[in-house]
Amino acid sequence: LIKLVYPSNGHTTAEKQTFVVGATDPKQLLTLNGQPVVISPKGYFSQVLPLSPGSNTFVFRTASGEERPLTINRQGPVRVPNGQIRPDLKPTPSLICMPGDWVSLTCVAGANQQLTATYCLPDGTVWLSIPLTAPLTAGGNDPLNGPDDWFDDRQALFAELTQTTAPIAKQCVYTGKAQLPKTACDNWPTAPLTLFWQTATQRIADKATLSLWQQCRFGQVTKTPTVMRTSPPEGSRLTPQQTGAWLTLTGKQGPWWRVRLSGERTAWLPDHSVSLLPEGDHPPSLAVPVLTLKTQPLAPDASSLLLPGWRQVLPYHLNLQPNGLTLEWFGAVSHCDFIHYHPQETVIKRIEWSQPNMDTFTLDINLPRLCGAEVVYKQDAGKANAGAVVNLKRLPTNPRILLDPGHGGSESGSMGPDGTPEKALNLALSLKVAAAMRQAGLNVTLTRTQDVTMGLVERTDMAADFDMVISLHHNALPDGRDPQKSKGLSTYYYHAMAKPLADALFEGLGKALGVPKYGVFYDSLALTRIPTAMAVLVEVGFMTNPQEYERVQDPAFQQQFAMALSQQVKQFVAQHG
Ligand SMILES: [Zn+2]
Repeated sequence: LIKLVYPSNGHTTAEKQTFVVGATDPKQLLTLNGQPVVISPKGYFSQVLPLSPGSNTFVFRTASGEERPLTINRQGPVRVPNGQIRPDLKPTPSLICMPGDWVSLTCVAGANQQLTATYCLPDGTVWLSIPLTAPLTAGGNDPLNGPDDWFDDRQALFAELTQTTAPIAKQCVYTGKAQLPKTACDNWPTAPLTLFWQTATQRIADKATLSLWQQCRFGQVTKTPTVMRTSPPEGSRLTPQQTGAWLTLTGKQGPWWRVRLSGERTAWLPDHSVSLLPEGDHPPSLAVPVLTLKTQPLAPDASSLLLPGWRQVLPYHLNLQPNGLTLEWFGAVSHCDFIHYHPQETVIKRIEWSQPNMDTFTLDINLPRLCGAEVVYKQDAGKANAGAVVNLKRLPTNPRILLDPGHGGSESGSMGPDGTPEKALNLALSLKVAAAMRQAGLNVTLTRTQDVTMGLVERTDMAADFDMVISLHHNALPDGRDPQKSKGLSTYYYHAMAKPLADALFEGLGKALGVPKYGVFYDSLALTRIPTAMAVLVEVGFMTNPQEYERVQDPAFQQQFAMALSQQVKQFVAQHG
């Protein structure tokens, strides 16, 4: 009679608490270690379970005497015995640096030691020495039970249920940094330097090396799209880059190249999508031709901006706003003295260029109700038309809507107290939404109409043919949170051009359905990052909250939600389309 959906027996977590989600006979009293459990009318429950370090046993018992034990392990922080060095616990990447760069190192070792890192020449001579320090051990405190006595660098992934990476005791994490000389002198080493870790009793060689460049080098992007980040390896994503883009490389950290965009502005690109030019080689001149910008209407709600003669693919950044976009090209100098608006142009209202510094060419394009943009390079087109093209769209009065039921097939998503997978709930709801939208005269297509596995790339590729993307999900919590406290509707956007839609759906659905409101979120998700459509993700409610779960699985609520969503979209399009 007692069904435990989460966590599984023997679950391991690093958190100080987890929660249990399950279902039972609503007519019977259920206790957990002797204390009554709050049960929803249909018999669902979710409850926080505080965890002591090590093994924790909980026993659920019904009034009729059924018993269900549950064991959960809480992983304590990793502690390293005194005298030991464990660089394997936080591996150091190999580095390529330039004069003046800072070298920052982290290493795990036993507490209260003198730890030094040295970078050595092939003959063993120390070239750079970096002392590392760690917080001192708090006298007599057991680090296992200290309030926050370790570095918690694990990401609390939204809607990700398990977190099992062991944290490391704070006093075992040593850090240090040093700045390289600002100018390379004659004896600046050319061979890679080897890293050694050294304490009073131990000296071990690391696989990581440090290579020194006196000058930047050049490279080219080999794949479209290539992820570009603010820092390696998990920094925020920036505009993805395109094949052929010329890069100024100023360093490397593990498999990530540091790229100079403009002045002090840098970004990081993965090694596997960058080809490095031989030392001393330069890209062809990046001088931008004298530009005559012209607009070219494509359809009633689409237009393009042509930059004929622009043949160089350059790194760029797109900022998509509700009323237009800013496009920055790095490594370009403006020669723009002429802009021609096509006589039939109705989509693009105004174009302005600027040169904020010596190597950034910026275009500000005013375009009310922007719902998508992309930059393409037409290299093979006839001579007159070869160049860069910015394709732009505004929200049409009857937009092509892509409705995406999240997960599917082998990807279940989260799970309700009765064991229903999120993918099934998303699909059931989406089918009702699609029917309601069609009835309301909206042009809607589903990414999936069955329980099939579908990758994120497959979904985002599909989005290319649509003006609006709405992805439907049901929320869950990670360990360490309270499922009773988190509830309500939330919407998610990435590009600012989609914020008005995220706001409208959040407010409109919240009002029409009278449900708790969790919030509007900026969130870098595959389905919200789509640049060629107005993309919003909706989390209808929390499957980990029993009361909310009863609501979202109720077919009558789903029908009400479908009507409300369809109406909100119709209203939004009428106001903004
Ligand atoms: Zn989901």
